[in-house]
Amino acid sequence: MGPVTQTLSRLPALVPPPTVLPARAAALRAEVRAFLAQERASGAWSPRADVWLSGWDERFTRELGRRGWLGMTIPVEYGGHGGSALDRYVVTEELLAAGAPVAAHWVADRQIGPTLMRFGTEAQRRRYLPRIAAGECYFGIGMSEPDAGSDLAAVRTKADRVDGGWELTGTKVWTSGAHHAHAFFALARSAPPRDVDTGESNRHAGLSQFIVELDSPGVQIRPIPLLTGAHHFNEVVFERVFVPDAMVLGELGGGWAQVTGELAFERSGPERFLSTFPLLTAMLAELAGQPGAEREVGRLVSRLWALRSMSLAVAGSLESGQAPELAAAVVKDLGTRFENEVVDAARTLVAIPPDPGAEAGFARLLADAVLHAPGFTLRGGTNEVLRGIVARGMGLR
Ligand SMILES: Cc1cc2nc3c(=O)[nH]c(=O)nc-3n(C[C@H](O)[C@H](O)[C@H](O)COP(=O)(O)OP(=O)(O)OC[C@H]3O[C@@H](n4cnc5c(N)ncnc54)[C@H](O)[C@@H]3O)c2cc1C
Repeated sequence: MGPVTQTLSRLPALVPPPTVLPARAAALRAEVRAFLAQERASGAWSPRADVWLSGWDERFTRELGRRGWLGMTIPVEYGGHGGSALDRYVVTEELLAAGAPVAAHWVADRQIGPTLMRFGTEAQRRRYLPRIAAGECYFGIGMSEPDAGSDLAAVRTKADRVDGGWELTGTKVWTSGAHHAHAFFALARSAPPRDVDTGESNRHAGLSQFIVELDSPGVQIRPIPLLTGAHHFNEVVFERVFVPDAMVLGELGGGWAQVTGELAFERSGPERFLSTFPLLTAMLAELAGQPGAEREVGRLVSRLWALRSMSLAVAGSLESGQAPELAAAVVKDLGTRFENEVVDAARTLVAIPPDPGAEAGFARLLADAVLHAPGFTLRGGTNEVLRGIVARGMGLR
């Protein structure tokens, strides 16, 4: 086999078989749309771009919890709804497409619930899952550090053994929503970077995850304003923060495998290509009846459809117990670039300037999208790093 044939033979890893949503999805979708229309009509919120980072609205989140649209895949015994990831997919894509304020529950619903089901103790599940499903408990992500972003294994936050638990010292950064959240999973070094069995150097060994309640003594949360001046990000500093043994997540020293599993949930969803969807729909409304933009609009919409089909295929493959890491990385790379292209098209095709002070409408959507766009390809692992993962997974590196 030549190199090209070899590469082509590996393509199925990038595109899982298509997933068809079950028949019940249509009824669920209609229910979510009706609810969103009612919310909009009541003037509760206006559609915004990048809502899963910036649309923090605890009332809205609790309302979703009341309707059974949070913790959908969490078993009923833990306060969830025992549904499928495809049901959750339908709900999340409708919420994102509508530009609804979903940031308060986003991280907890997307990755904390499933991770607690996989690695949490019975007590940890009972403590958090019912409140997550009710929309009453919010989480951040405690991975990145000032010198450990793409190279996450370089984290320097250390966990020292003390009586009854661990003491954490170090700094996390870019922590979205930490100033509102109740807790996060902090990745920290609890042992030297050496393989326990062989004693050989291994930077992925000796890392552990700890559930840190963000009101614990010794935790300082400092704002990092966005370009807009808005406060979503934070630096979180630990000064000898005590974490009891009962709040160690999963296996001590098993943090690397756990955190990579968590990233699979973080990278594969429709939020990786729908952050600017409300801007796209507003742009189409502005362009209606104007000749000349058909080609660009057709290109964007057909790419969106292809991305959505791939993302759904990834969701279907996750639902059937597989780990489609490469496909998820491809969707995130193509999807986040698509999000940026929507912003570029809106700027060039519509003669309305961005206005961050506008209450709602195209000018406001465009302003938020322009100012948030630099983060699209960075968060959750940069596109360059994802391409490295894809190349390695295909045996090309
Ligand atoms: C909007 C937003 C929200 C975020 N929220 C959170 C959060 O809640 N919690 C959290 O823990 N983190 C969060 N992050 C942090 C995010 O995960 C990191 O920014 C990201 O992993 C990149 O790390 P870094 O910023 O340190 O960049 P660096 O790792 O320093 O990378 C700098 C540049 O070098 C490139 N590069 C680095 N290594 C390689 C390589 N091996 N090959 C090729 N190129 C490479 C990168 O692609 C990038 O362009 C958020 C980031 C953003 C933008």
